[in-house]
Amino acid sequence: MNCTKILPPNEKPRILPRFQHEGQKPTSVPSRAVFVFLLPRFLAVDSPINFEFQTRHNFTGTRIRVILKAMGTLSTDTIIVGAGPSGLALAACLTKARVPFILLERAPHIGNAWRNHYERLHLHTLKKHSNLPYFPFPDSVEKYPSRQAVVDYLEAYTKHFNIQPRLDEEVTAIRRENGEWHTRTSKSAYRSERVVIASGYNRRPVVPKWQGSDSFEGRVLHSAEYRNGEPFRGKRVLIVGIGNTGGEIAIDLHAYGATAVHICVRNPVNVIPRDFLGTPTQLTGIMLSKLPRQIRYFMSKHLANLSVGDLSKYGLLRPELSPMEGLERFGRVALIDIGTVDLIKRGAITVVPGIARFTSRGVTFVDGTTQEYDAVVLATGYKPGIEDFLEDAMDLTDEAGYPVPPAGESARPGLYFLGYVNPPTGLLRQIAIDAKRVAATIAKKANREMVHA
Ligand SMILES: Cc1cc2nc3c(=O)[nH]c(=O)nc-3n(C[C@H](O)[C@H](O)[C@H](O)COP(=O)(O)OP(=O)(O)OC[C@H]3O[C@@H](n4cnc5c(N)ncnc54)[C@H](O)[C@@H]3O)c2cc1C
Repeated sequence: MNCTKILPPNEKPRILPRFQHEGQKPTSVPSRAVFVFLLPRFLAVDSPINFEFQTRHNFTGTRIRVILKAMGTLSTDTIIVGAGPSGLALAACLTKARVPFILLERAPHIGNAWRNHYERLHLHTLKKHSNLPYFPFPDSVEKYPSRQAVVDYLEAYTKHFNIQPRLDEEVTAIRRENGEWHTRTSKSAYRSERVVIASGYNRRPVVPKWQGSDSFEGRVLHSAEYRNGEPFRGKRVLIVGIGNTGGEIAIDLHAYGATAVHICVRNPVNVIPRDFLGTPTQLTGIMLSKLPRQIRYFMSKHLANLSVGDLSKYGLLRPELSPMEGLERFGRVALIDIGTVDLIKRGAITVVPGIARFTSRGVTFVDGTTQEYDAVVLATGYKPGIEDFLEDAMDLTDEAGYPVPPAGESARPGLYFLGYVNPPTGLLRQIAIDAKRVAATIAKKANREMVHA
């Protein structure tokens, strides 16, 4: 379109009303009202209305975009932080509800956690109970999907819903000001009605320190850095922590030919097999979760006793609390066993007590014994670490740093959390349930605000 016009002599240049371009009829009152209605939708950069509006009013659209770019702030209804299973599930649900959103991911690809987990990892939950909303795992995938199958599934999911995350863009600050949310990233700044934090239960590795650990001459790594046992072939390795990750890395190290695999267990721990008498533990968990609290705790305890028995002679003491009560009330995850216990019984993996201090060549334990090691793998878990970017996060988290509530709208209007509940029925299953619920709440609010705009 040619926007330049040669004016006849003596004719004063007309100042066109804002948003009106040459050749267009002056904006009438009703169309101004339409404008007022459309503008906020238009400013939602990913909205379908925006696209249509921008095509029909290209010049104006470009002008507004230039202004917004100059201001350095883009605007949308909902910002989602993190393109892991939680963020992708929510993005799919909001797409279905036609709520505009922008999905921000710090890594160069979606599903980053799953790309970087150790290679041997398989889901310990069933694929049919680990699906994200509206799109199941393919039939060809095994009952307990491998890490790579999860990555492939997340890729297919993203493609299926045409989700377009902004990759390589880390959220560095989120704050509320003048009734809206301001999100700053490594590349840009956004304003939004709502923010959903889905940056992961396992965002920041917990790396404890012990007396002397800096002088240890061997390698110390967190399980987040562990890929496979190849570098540890022929080496003496201590694993700290017998959660699911520690238990499985012990199997991996043994399979790769580590000469000693010791696993440090400080406290009593619940152990349950992944399958018992042909029934997956997750299914048992789903069935028990429907029962009253005291009954499910009682049954969970007795099932654990029955399926695993007494392991105290191998150094594994059973806690007072049942697996379900430990997890639901205190976040203590039971070891879902896929072969660690058998290797312990066969003497291929040795349970050792808590660490008192490090020496230059190994570790002294709380019972006074000392062992030499070439490497120590810290399977010591993670924290969500949302205080890294959320202003006043302390007011919205418990003493361990987990958001309250762990899924849904927080005490701050328009701020939601997703993916911080870890129930005995499986986190991925819970993410699918909560993503639908959070999206429905957002859609309802967005729609209501649109109607009253
Ligand atoms: C080893 C392991 C095994 C597991 N196995 C199972 C299982 O078998 N079954 C099950 O149901 N659950 C399992 N889980 C738990 C859970 O399902 C997964 O952790 C799952 O990936 C959680 O999804 P999420 O999207 O909430 O978090 P994540 O997958 O961690 O995704 C969060 C995303 O947010 C991004 N991010 C973080 N901070 C920022 C920021 N500041 N700006 C932008 N982006 C950011 C991250 O890069 C990441 O991509 C397992 C977890 C672990 C660690």
